[in-house]
Amino acid sequence: MVYPEPFDLQEIRATFPPEQIPVVRTYTVRDLDVAAGTLAIDFVVHGDEGVAGPWAATVEPGTAIHVLGPGGAYAPDPAADAHLLVGDESALPAVAAAVEALGPDARGHVLLEVAGPGDEVDLPVPAGVELRWLHRGTTAHEAPAELVGAGSPMTTAVLALAESAWPEGRVQVFVHGEAEAVMHHIRPVLKARGVAKADFSVSGYWRRGRTEEGFRVWKSELARTEGD
Ligand SMILES: Cc1cc2nc3c(=O)[nH]c(=O)nc-3n(C[C@H](O)[C@H](O)[C@H](O)COP(=O)(O)OP(=O)(O)OC[C@H]3O[C@@H](n4cnc5c(N)ncnc54)[C@H](O)[C@@H]3O)c2cc1C
Repeated sequence: MVYPEPFDLQEIRATFPPEQIPVVRTYTVRDLDVAAGTLAIDFVVHGDEGVAGPWAATVEPGTAIHVLGPGGAYAPDPAADAHLLVGDESALPAVAAAVEALGPDARGHVLLEVAGPGDEVDLPVPAGVELRWLHRGTTAHEAPAELVGAGSPMTTAVLALAESAWPEGRVQVFVHGEAEAVMHHIRPVLKARGVAKADFSVSGYWRRGRTEEGFRVWKSELARTEGD
């Protein structure tokens, strides 16, 4: 499909038939080099389902995409006593960018859930920050039910931290990834720990069994029922 230039998504949505409206997917800017004219995005390849994952698995050099944004307001606060940064593969680019923005005196924990050792990336952390890789043993899209949500490695690790090793003082949290784990099992624990609203960046990045469109519906239903 060739769209009129300059590309205007709002105009296209208002004037094109539904089946010709472009699909939108949400990704993290892992790196932007304006001088070099490059924008880096790390895509999770998660099997044959979906649009962006299969696209990333097969895309050829020279392919064009349209980019909207950016959104998001999180930045690590140097005044926080400690940081808790948690994510799965989908949030690894965001957590990595956040880690790079931490000051040298930052303290806290980084918990990253990936399939196995081969999925770890080089991620230097400040001396006062502990980085732990949590191995699921399988990809997220192939994980059995007992490793999703309540049983996910990142849920287990955050619950353990909250119970016995929660940092002293004001903790700023950045927790993103599979929505059932983040929203149903991790978020309540962080709230119970008294994390202030201003220090709270917690959201699902994708939801098992839902496309991004279906996930948006789920998120707005959750916000309505919980009054968030
Ligand atoms: C603010 C934000 C930033 C994000 N940044 C990144 C990023 O940098 N890199 C990244 O890879 N993702 C990122 N995501 C997640 C990404 O938007 C979703 O994974 C999206 O659903 C992918 O679209 P798709 O077309 O591949 O699959 P969809 O068409 O949306 O879904 C098809 C199927 O694939 C499954 N699926 C979708 N994503 C995953 C996954 N990660 N693992 C396993 N199964 C999946 C769905 O459950 C569904 O069954 C981000 C999301 C948000 C909200």
